[in-house]
Amino acid sequence: MREPLLKSINPRSLLGDRAVWPGDKEYDSRRRVWNGMHDRRPALVARCSNAEEVSAILRWARSEGLAVSVRGGGHNVAGTAVADDAVVIDLALMNSVDVDPVSMVAVAGGGALLRDLDAATTMHGLACPAGVVSHTGLGGLTLGGGYGWLARKWGLTCDHLTAAAVVLPDGAIVEASPAEHQDLFWALRGGGGNFGVVTRFTLRLRNVGPVVHQSGVYALASADEALVAYAGFAGRQELDLHTVGALKIAGNHEWIPERLRGEPALFLTAGWFGSECDGADAIAPLFRSAPPDGRLDQVLSYAALQALGDHSEPAGHRYFTKSCYLGDISGAAATALVNAGRAITSPMSSIDFEFLRGAIAEVPDAGSAFPNRGAPYIVTASAQWTNADEDATHTRWSRQTIDSLGPWQYGGAYVNYVQDAGHQSAADLYGQRRYRRLAAAKARYDPENILRHNQNIPPVTTTS
Ligand SMILES: Cc1cc2nc3c(=O)[nH]c(=O)nc-3n(C[C@H](O)[C@H](O)[C@H](O)COP(=O)(O)OP(=O)(O)OC[C@H]3O[C@@H](n4cnc5c(N)ncnc54)[C@H](O)[C@@H]3O)c2cc1C
Repeated sequence: MREPLLKSINPRSLLGDRAVWPGDKEYDSRRRVWNGMHDRRPALVARCSNAEEVSAILRWARSEGLAVSVRGGGHNVAGTAVADDAVVIDLALMNSVDVDPVSMVAVAGGGALLRDLDAATTMHGLACPAGVVSHTGLGGLTLGGGYGWLARKWGLTCDHLTAAAVVLPDGAIVEASPAEHQDLFWALRGGGGNFGVVTRFTLRLRNVGPVVHQSGVYALASADEALVAYAGFAGRQELDLHTVGALKIAGNHEWIPERLRGEPALFLTAGWFGSECDGADAIAPLFRSAPPDGRLDQVLSYAALQALGDHSEPAGHRYFTKSCYLGDISGAAATALVNAGRAITSPMSSIDFEFLRGAIAEVPDAGSAFPNRGAPYIVTASAQWTNADEDATHTRWSRQTIDSLGPWQYGGAYVNYVQDAGHQSAADLYGQRRYRRLAAAKARYDPENILRHNQNIPPVTTTS
């Protein structure tokens, strides 16, 4: 354990203009998060640029009796990066990424975004499996798990974490890895931001080449049948293939038949991450068994694939997300999904789903805090709108969508998609045994629950 270099001192003398207080010119822009639903007023936004500054701010906050929140990319749907009257440790300035292409390792700052990581890795033909929208923060995503296009082939982002530099709530700076602070390393991979502020992520990289990317669109009248065909295909697809689906209002794109534009429709999309020449053959059985009304075929670079969703979920809109795992997506489950798609209340909302398993399920369950590795599907009802008067309508649709899937739910949920904390407790997400182990790690590393603005796991000291 390294002693912090800086003692606790006043943030103003430590950070100068990078300490942003209520009333400062930058205050409103610095307290804003991606989801416009959250309008919180912190006591201070501390824009730290290294682990020593993070340590000093943590010590100062403790001495002042202030709670602390941590901001990576500010993308969490629940807006946990910023809390009323708390000190925000904003890591945005710590966004550098260094890549060693020979050992295939990236070292990323705690505030890096996925686009920072992708920009540094893809120039070497490499990538770390991560999420699908490039303005998402690497910090929150990795600590909660990290699903994305490469997860079936190679596993989650947290499965690629090989070491982390962590500033503990008492200000100590430690290294967590398979060799040091193993219990912390276990908890960081799925347990979220409960245990400390990660200022450096060391990540294993993989080779990536061009991606064969094909989409089909279906009128809702044939969507049930297409989902049944998808379910038959998904369980047998090769590991190099990742398939996702969405129910949403069809946009005004050339490849979408005019009669479907502006109507709720089903989209199925496949990405092939093997050798380019084999992609079309691997995807063909999907669209043979479920012939679409419109079709888009393209070959993309991995970086372009990662940026495809960047414009559909802009910062500042209002969002409500509820999600669950599903055991099945065919039969009556398909009908329930299509009915929820028909009932969609905003042209910007969507129901997104994907088949998981593959490498995600192959990682030993006890090896990390990430739960529910065996779940076949994940489904997310993402409501998006702009007018605050409509909050109740769209929130209700998202909740009702997930509730309507009750009979086919696999149990648990993905911590990074939890906005409805009152309805989805951390104990339910992780399961009792894993939750107890996380609570014990919390008691060791954050016994005063200084880091409580997150999907919180309160500390519990076990006697046995
Ligand atoms: C548009 C969009 C697309 C998404 N796509 C995906 C996807 O494809 N796959 C997927 O798995 N998830 C996805 N997510 C969910 C995403 O993983 C979470 O929203 C995650 O919390 C975002 O991380 P962040 O750093 O931006 O969050 P922030 O809001 O900054 O932080 C959320 C929490 O994470 C913790 N935290 C963040 N950084 C650190 C750090 N360095 N040290 C300690 N604690 C930290 C804190 O507890 C904080 O409260 C998506 C979210 C959005 C909004």
